[in-house]
Amino acid sequence: MGRTQHKDVSYYTEGILAGNRVVLSQAITLVESRLPQHQALAQTIIETCLPFSGKSIRVGITGVPGVGKSTFIEALGMKILEEGRKMAILAVDPSSQISKGSILGDKTRMAQLAVAPHAYIRPSPAGDSLGGVTRKTRETILLCEAAGFDLILVETVGVGQSEVAVHSMVDFFLLLLLPGAGDELQGIKRGIVEMADLIAVNKSDGDNAQKALHSAADYRNALHLFPPKESNWIPPVVTCSAINGTGLDGIWQKILEYQVFTQDNGFFDHQRQQQTKNWFHDSIGQLLTNQFYQSPGLQDELSSMEQKVLNQELSPAHAARMLLQSFWKVQAGLWAQEKPKFKGEK
Ligand code: GDP
Repeated sequence: MGRTQHKDVSYYTEGILAGNRVVLSQAITLVESRLPQHQALAQTIIETCLPFSGKSIRVGITGVPGVGKSTFIEALGMKILEEGRKMAILAVDPSSQISKGSILGDKTRMAQLAVAPHAYIRPSPAGDSLGGVTRKTRETILLCEAAGFDLILVETVGVGQSEVAVHSMVDFFLLLLLPGAGDELQGIKRGIVEMADLIAVNKSDGDNAQKALHSAADYRNALHLFPPKESNWIPPVVTCSAINGTGLDGIWQKILEYQVFTQDNGFFDHQRQQQTKNWFHDSIGQLLTNQFYQSPGLQDELSSMEQKVLNQELSPAHAARMLLQSFWKVQAGLWAQEKPKFKGEK
C-alpha cells in the first residue's frame, strides 16, 4: 500500500465521491488487503460511501472461456459509453488463485475500454477463496457506485460456482452461449441457464449465423420448461455477434427494459434487499468460521478430532459438536479475561 495507508477516511471518501479513479483504486486495494488495519479502514470507507451507492444497474455476464465475453463487453461497453454512462467492469474468478493472476478483466483483453475515460476495469482479486472474492467484489461494487459509475458489469468464467456468486450480487444476469451446441448446454449447468435474464447466442456471423438461430430456438424451447421467474420477467433468447456488433443494441435495450419492468413491479428493490440480507448472513457465517479456525488452543484438538473421525471412533457430526463446545469454552475464557479491561477503560 505504500504511503496510502497513512491517509485518513476523508481522503478516500472525498476522492471516491469526486470520482477520482486513483483514489477509488487505492480504496479497492484496501478492500482486497488482508491486513486488519486495512480492513478496518476499508469498512469505514464503505460505510461512509453506502448512502451514495446503489444508483446503478448491476449486470452479470457469464459464459464458457472462448464464448466471446471480453469481445462482447468491449463492443457493448463502447456503445453504452456513447450514451454518457460511466461503467465499471469487475470480475469474479476464484480460479485466478491457481492460474496465478486472472485473465478476466485483463486490460489487454479490452483495449478500447481500458483507455476510455468513463470506463473503469478492475481484475478479479487474486489468491483468494470464492467467499473472499465475493465479499471483495460486492464491496468494490458499492465503492464504484459511490464514485459515480452507473453501470456495473461483473464478468465471470462459465465454470464452477462463480456464476452463483455473481448472480447473488447483480440485478440482471446475462448468459452468453456458442452456436450449435444447444442440446448439451455446452457444459453449462442447467441451474445457470435457469438463472439467466437473457440468453445471447454469440458468434452469430458468417457460417455460424444459421446455426445460431437454431440454437436460440432450442434454448427458447428449453426455457419454457422452467418455472416462471420470481421477477415475472420472461428471459429473451437472442443472437448476436460481438465481433461485428450485430444484436448488441437490442441486448442493451432489453437490459433497460428489464430495469423498468422490475422497478415497476417492485422486484428490483426486493432482489437487492434480499441480496443484502444474504450478504449479511454470509458474513456471519464467514466470520464465525474464521474465528473458529483461528481460535487459539484449538488446533491440537482439531487435529486429534480429525484423526478420530478418520479412525471411525467418532462421527463427523459428533466430533464437530464437541469441538464447537471447546470453542465456546475458549471464547468464554477470553471474554472473562477481557471484562476487567473494559471496566477499567470506562
Ligand atoms: P472470452 O474468453 O469469453 O472472453 O472470449 P474472447 O472475447 O476472448 O473471444 C474468444 C475468441 O472468439 C476470440 O478469438 C474472439 O475474436 C472470438 N470472438 C468473440 N466474439 C466473436 C463473434 O461474435 N464472432 C466471431 N466469429 N468470433 C468471435
